[in-house]
Amino acid sequence: MTATRVLVLNSGSSSLKYQLLDMRDSSRLATGLVERIGERTSRLKHTVLTTGETRETTGPVTDHAAALKAVAEELGRDGLGLDSPELAAVGHRVVHGGSSFTEPAIVDDAVLAEIERLVPLAPLHNPANLTGIRTARSLRPDLPQVAVFDTAFHTTMPESAARYAIDVSTADEYRIRRYGFHGTSHAYVSRETAKLLGKAPEDVNVIVLHLGNGASASAVRGGRCVDTSMGLTPLEGLVMGTRSGDVDPAVILHLARVGGMSTDETDTLLNKKSGLIGLCGDNDMREIRRRVDEGDEQARLAFDIYIHRLKKYIGAYYAVLGRVDAIAFTAGVGENAAAVREAAVAGLEELGLAVDAGLNAARGDGARIVSPEGARVTVAVVPTDEELEIATQTYALVGASHDLT
Ligand code: AMP
Repeated sequence: MTATRVLVLNSGSSSLKYQLLDMRDSSRLATGLVERIGERTSRLKHTVLTTGETRETTGPVTDHAAALKAVAEELGRDGLGLDSPELAAVGHRVVHGGSSFTEPAIVDDAVLAEIERLVPLAPLHNPANLTGIRTARSLRPDLPQVAVFDTAFHTTMPESAARYAIDVSTADEYRIRRYGFHGTSHAYVSRETAKLLGKAPEDVNVIVLHLGNGASASAVRGGRCVDTSMGLTPLEGLVMGTRSGDVDPAVILHLARVGGMSTDETDTLLNKKSGLIGLCGDNDMREIRRRVDEGDEQARLAFDIYIHRLKKYIGAYYAVLGRVDAIAFTAGVGENAAAVREAAVAGLEELGLAVDAGLNAARGDGARIVSPEGARVTVAVVPTDEELEIATQTYALVGASHDLT
């Protein structure tokens, strides 16, 4: 029997998301989520996509190892368990691959040690990702585990984009540079955008705007990332749901000196209490638009700041690329908020950018063009699919390694 299934695991600090895919046709067999791991009220929600059945269980799940065991049991009830000979590999989302990982990697002890070495760069995420890998490995030691890094797609950035203009020896000592995140999404969406244009990725320059609760932009030239808005951490760049994006770094010094704020307090302020929620108390774009439509000034200002920053990045990446074939909007806000897409390109007709009001307002599931016919730059909505991208990269690597043995 050929093994064609890939289990994709995304281990967060207190959650475990998973999808089981069959790579013969990229179909989903099962999906689910364990939330509030480590609390007494943990919840496992499991959906078998072949039948549409959803099962929910609540009760304490002590740690990630227990969570994955519970998931394996749920999968096993439908013959989809970790012990199935049809399972080819487990693909793990790993947030930080530093400069070391330019591609996905089959996990061995050296790869685990390197991900561990990168923990100081992603203190919340990499430890959770590591736990997921170690647990899956202990349950099926013979099965290939593949680490797919959020940063890998951005490792093609030239030094001129990846380096901060700070003292080189200090930067090197602490590995301070711009790594970028959401890489699997930017990779997938830029490729899908080329497909939508009927061209090869090598022939297309795209600005990808991944606008979810976290948000990032990237400039992709011929399939390779040449700049992205997130930096050492996911805090830099666009205005996000709860993150500030770009601020003068002296704001942090000012808060420490004048406000007496500790490092942790400033971290919480900029990552959790800023962005849209800090500006208007809401981080859900639906709610913000509803308030704007009712004439709420605070929500209006938050929206305007969000759009202003977005526009600045569109302009910057236009200049970085020189020629832009398409701008792709993706993730929760990018795929659903027509008002954001409209406002982001408003007034940029001189750059060949515009949306067609009817196409932009229309709803649709797949990738679609929302710019007027014959527009110099295609504006598109391209739904992201990070799980599929992780599964595809995992399967490609495992298939390739099988060929070698
Ligand atoms: P993500 O992080 O990609 O799951 O995106 C989540 C965000 O997408 C939410 O916080 C909302 O702000 C936004 N969102 C989801 N659905 C809609 C919608 N129909 N209209 C506007 N924004 C939406």
